[in-house]
Amino acid sequence: MSIAQEEIKKFEVNDCAQYDVFYQAMKEVICSISPLLESDEKYARYAILERLVVPDRIIKFKVTWVDDNNDIQVNTGIRVQFNNALGPYKGGLRFHPTVNEGVLKFLGFEQILKNALTGLPIGGAKGGSDFNPKGRSDFEIMKFCSAFMTKLHKYIGPRIDVPAGDIGVGAREIGYLFGEYKKITSSYDGVLTGKPYMFGGSFMRPEATGYGVVYFTQTMLEMENHESLEGKICTVSGAGNVALHAIEKLLEIGAIPVTCTDSQGTIYDSRGVDLCLLKELKLEKRVSLERYVEAHPEAKYIPVDEYPDGGHAVWDIECYAAFPCATQNELNELDAQNLITNGCISVSEGANMPSTPEAIDAFLSHKICFAPAKAANAGGVVVSEFEMSQNAGMTKWAFEKVDEKLKEIMQQIAKRVALTAKDYGVEGNYVDGANIAGFKRVADAMIAEGI
Ligand code: NDP
Repeated sequence: MSIAQEEIKKFEVNDCAQYDVFYQAMKEVICSISPLLESDEKYARYAILERLVVPDRIIKFKVTWVDDNNDIQVNTGIRVQFNNALGPYKGGLRFHPTVNEGVLKFLGFEQILKNALTGLPIGGAKGGSDFNPKGRSDFEIMKFCSAFMTKLHKYIGPRIDVPAGDIGVGAREIGYLFGEYKKITSSYDGVLTGKPYMFGGSFMRPEATGYGVVYFTQTMLEMENHESLEGKICTVSGAGNVALHAIEKLLEIGAIPVTCTDSQGTIYDSRGVDLCLLKELKLEKRVSLERYVEAHPEAKYIPVDEYPDGGHAVWDIECYAAFPCATQNELNELDAQNLITNGCISVSEGANMPSTPEAIDAFLSHKICFAPAKAANAGGVVVSEFEMSQNAGMTKWAFEKVDEKLKEIMQQIAKRVALTAKDYGVEGNYVDGANIAGFKRVADAMIAEGI
């Protein structure tokens, strides 16, 4: 049995289906880092894996709030503080009915290595609630956020744990959470990132993840001697914060993003998607993508229920580069085969773990340039760290400065990942490169800090 198999077996506890995504993420990392474990016994001696896969603590709390009908609602809130070897716990909050401990453990675990890859002083965490913001009024969102923060505030702080946004949590929610924290503590702390610009937010935080994934892809394509994205057809999934800003950057550099998706369907607009309209539908009106074709009848809307197994039509569309930016496991083996058959040469993950393990195997075996989430979507947390720095120094950086520094760090991550893969004999495998480089930085800090 190989080291990787032995390690995986140690941690495999089939206690509950909700932990599937966590085991999926953990197995990938263990397989990737096995050459490192084999070449340096200190990681086994210091039991780094055993210590890394167990969160420092999981805080679970009841969130009680009153809806617009004066009915009392009860949700669950969770914060997984996973590892702070490199800096304060850092990671987003997700409000979505599918949130449970397993999902947050998966996201928190990935966040440790992602944050390590940035080279910045931040640890890994994730949190959220099974609260469903869809269809809720602005007042209900505000009341829920206040109730959530009433319970969470004791466990966070600018040097302890600094949450940010994720699915269902944007600048509006962060604003309400921040307001409640300030009210309870009477302290104007940079305790959350992704705040609106007018009170402590950084320029470019909303754009950061989407722009970052494009910067990473540009560097990767250059290193792998492929043509640039300019003039090329790109497919993007999602229609939220990450997807919209990936589309924005793609349009800016002259690429042609032709798709986007939401949980109900796919838009295919062969002339390139209308970003202004998308922003209006998704950020202002918060309605279904179906409405896109009212303004653009020549575009196609393909609902999920017209597609086999509730999947999305987006990966059937011919493209040069694909950007899955919606959610985990949204791109399966069949989707990967379709992309490969249709001539796609590059897949960059804007969402966290959007490709299934089988899809990743297909990409790697066909030598597709594959940029894994923990490297490619690190732009969000990079600018979150910039926000922490600005808040600590009571300053505000210009948009251009943030953009320049973000670009520089995304390029550095891509180069570090490629070089690490080469050093460990898996040239071109950005999955292994990212896992080894991220793991090594956290593990070395854990060893240096003692048990
Ligand atoms: P948002 O809530 O802004 O948007 C999510 C989008 O994905 C929505 O349009 C949603 O559709 C759509 N979606 C959700 N589930 C599915 C599904 N099963 N199939 C297709 N579409 C779906 O979230 P973000 O854009 O912030 O996050 C997207 C991904 O990026 C997540 O994996 C997140 O963890 C990751 N990420 C986000 C970062 C950030 O800075 N925000 C940083 C790093 C990673 P609908 O509108 O119908 O709900």
